[in-house]
Amino acid sequence: MTRLVMKFGGTSVADMERIARVARLVAAEKAAGHEVAVVVSAMAGRTNELVAWTDAAGRAAPGLEPSDDEYDLVVASGEQVTAGLLAMTLRHMGHRARSWLGWQIPILTDDAHGRARIDDIPAEALGAAVDGGEIAVIAGFQGVTHGGRITTLGRGGSDTSAVAIAAALQAIRCDIYTDVDGVYTTDPRIEQRARRLARISYEEMLEMASLGAKVLQTRSVELAMAKGVAVRVLSSFTEPGEAGSDTGTIVCDEEEIVEKRIVSGVTYSRDEAKITVLGLPDRPGVSSKLFSSLADANVNVDMIVQSRARTSDTANMTFTVGKRDAVRAMELIRAIQADVGFEDAQVDEDVAKVSVIGVGMRSHTGVAKTMFGALADRGVNIQVISTSEIKISVLIESAYTELAVRALHAAYGLDQVG
Ligand code: ADP
Ligand code: ASP
Ligand code: MG
Repeated sequence: MTRLVMKFGGTSVADMERIARVARLVAAEKAAGHEVAVVVSAMAGRTNELVAWTDAAGRAAPGLEPSDDEYDLVVASGEQVTAGLLAMTLRHMGHRARSWLGWQIPILTDDAHGRARIDDIPAEALGAAVDGGEIAVIAGFQGVTHGGRITTLGRGGSDTSAVAIAAALQAIRCDIYTDVDGVYTTDPRIEQRARRLARISYEEMLEMASLGAKVLQTRSVELAMAKGVAVRVLSSFTEPGEAGSDTGTIVCDEEEIVEKRIVSGVTYSRDEAKITVLGLPDRPGVSSKLFSSLADANVNVDMIVQSRARTSDTANMTFTVGKRDAVRAMELIRAIQADVGFEDAQVDEDVAKVSVIGVGMRSHTGVAKTMFGALADRGVNIQVISTSEIKISVLIESAYTELAVRALHAAYGLDQVG
């Protein structure tokens, strides 16, 4: 017997009809001879609603930490409901099933509330239950600290729950069921000509996730890569056995991919804000002071560019931070203005980061040229550029996001033929 982990996202468990279909998909894998552990998200929209309640209760108010442990208690509750409902549905169908909350397994995490990392999953009890033929229905997104407090794994964290459970159970695969039938060359919601990729490498998937393709949480890909978990992304909207129900996208090692592409995907993210510090004294130590103050406050900086001001002996520094850190970052920068001696600092939240990703960039030249050419042809101005071995990102005005994504998608020949 082999163990299999199946994960269902919010839209896949949005109502009882969909939960019933999920139960049929689970039952089909059980009938095919697998020992099954299922991970579920909260019903679509539920987590947002719960987050809003915590804001209303004063989480955002002065004196209350945004990482309050009570925040996690509230937002983790959505997954408890769907785990219970799916277990019940499976029992009605005549299967043996039971729900498991994060603390019951336990999924042990650090105590970074709201974005906790999994330390360990002692999975003996869970493993014994599934080996005994019982379907385990696990509430995703949840963990518990070593001290017994409930945590959550960050938005989209059920993907990470599923991969971590698959690793702990030594499952043959982790199937991530969602509202699209795989990983596409770009978000199919904004480019209808996007194509499903039959396979994508862990590395490319990791870049795509961290650069905005929210189909998988970044940490889930990181974990799958580190633990060698085979991941498949597929649609929960097909019935078991129906045409196309068994295809999806396989996330695997680069060596397992026959079709060689230079660029595999295009992503976008509107989660960043651009900060420009003007008139910085052009001398050693200035950047260090600036970025140390941000790092000490746990503000992550992404793209950075420095340019010499034209008229004086000063420099301008432009960089991006997460949108939710923008206000705090500006406060931190203004607090060191007198010490560092710059002229002004500005923030612009009206930006988007658009990226092209592909392992083929390692061995092919001209990828950047194609990117800049395609954007120039559409009149899209590039504000900041950053590159790594397998990706190029540009920061542009947010209003041009869709136009830029479609232009790049076509420029690299990713469009569906016909
Ligand atoms: P779930 O609720 O199942 O976790 P998500 O909403 O988190 O689902 O992720 C699925 C969504 O990711 C899709 O509906 C799609 O719009 C979006 N998405 C963004 N980029 C991509 C991509 N490259 N391939 C597939 N889906 C993508
Ligand atoms: N329900 C959580 C969220 O909306 C976790 C998840 O869906 O993966 O972020
Ligand atoms: Mg998700």
